[in-house]
Amino acid sequence: MIPRIFHLGAKNCVTGSCHLIETQPGSPESVNILIDCGTAYGDDPVLPFDQFPVTPESIQYLFLTHAHIDHIGRVPEFIAAGFRGEIICTHATKALLLPMLHDALSFSRDRWSRGEVQKLESRIDELSWGFELHDVYDLRKGITFTLKNAGHILGSCFIQLSFPVDSDQKYRVIFSGDLGCSDTPILPDPDKPESCDLLILESTYGNRLHPERKNRVEALRRLLEKALADKGIVYIPAFALGRTQELLYELDRINVDVPVFVDSPLGLTITDIYSSLESFWDKDSQALMARGDHPFDFKGLYAVRKFRDHEKLLNIKGPAIIIAGSGMCTGGRILDHLDQGLSDSRNDVFFVGYQAHGTLGRKIIEGKVPVRAAVHNLGGYSAHADQRMLMDWVRSMPEPPGEIRLVHGDAKAREALLGALGESVACHEERA
Ligand SMILES: [Zn+2]
Repeated sequence: MIPRIFHLGAKNCVTGSCHLIETQPGSPESVNILIDCGTAYGDDPVLPFDQFPVTPESIQYLFLTHAHIDHIGRVPEFIAAGFRGEIICTHATKALLLPMLHDALSFSRDRWSRGEVQKLESRIDELSWGFELHDVYDLRKGITFTLKNAGHILGSCFIQLSFPVDSDQKYRVIFSGDLGCSDTPILPDPDKPESCDLLILESTYGNRLHPERKNRVEALRRLLEKALADKGIVYIPAFALGRTQELLYELDRINVDVPVFVDSPLGLTITDIYSSLESFWDKDSQALMARGDHPFDFKGLYAVRKFRDHEKLLNIKGPAIIIAGSGMCTGGRILDHLDQGLSDSRNDVFFVGYQAHGTLGRKIIEGKVPVRAAVHNLGGYSAHADQRMLMDWVRSMPEPPGEIRLVHGDAKAREALLGALGESVACHEERA
């Protein structure tokens, strides 16, 4: 029997990723597998667990493609709702899982007590297992899986699953998870996928082409030189996981001669984990390390962990660069810095990530907040593949997939990508 696949989250939007596979729907013999269990943001829909086609108790495996909260944020809730199975991910995702969830859980104290948080965290630790990339593993009843590098953040993977249909036939499904761009600092480029019968493909930027990434370090260097010439402070709001480490890598290459402060406890914890997982880096970063040059640690880089030190930093005189979260200025330490520094015309704010509607970051860019500091919106920093990269990735399969279903994108992005795929690859239809 061909397994049934339900898209329970991020079907028509970008957050709340969650997909269910039932090998024998309705049968107690069915192997039930969940792919991702993420938090939805803004108006994106969330399906309560009691409305899933199967109960959390009857799901035996939860695969996690990577450690972004919109892919893992509901794992604690899922366990509280009765999930007792195994959590399968890469070694690097396993290392990032608890720090990311711990931070998220610390913001939901109204929901869980300190004791409940501790219990949930140790349960997640017991249930989750890190697996090697590229190896073929047996799940049960002839089902096999392979995790391959997705190049999106450290540890991110796409998942190839194979289900026995009858004695000599297999049904192969690939979940792309979030696919990264080629040439991302620190990370190897995404692996090529094998052939499959069904591809579940993300489409976040299915209607966009990113600007040339190769020029972005040079653009950052020139902009920093200008911004720091008047001895002001450059504020960079950045996500703790991925973007902060990419920025540090590029600032290290630029060789800035002003102090750089990372004022984000989570960003620093994640940077330490990135540092400890050298085997997941790309060749360039490994080569730098082999020559004794840590690729994202340098003289003049300061870690600001304690709140006391954060308060001291608020009174610092420029020139300096301050990286702090949250990435869209919706909370976190960046808010204190912006409060302090936006009224000074010597200062600059560099936006290096997507700023959603309604966020303070977006309002600053749109000039809806009175500021004297200069505001810059830097392109080329997306962590998602654009239309051309998604198409190249699909075309790199030895044979075109039997069927493609587009998820994780809004209607415009999915339509544009579907149109582009239709032109380039024969018999690709979305039948979801
Ligand atoms: Zn992601």
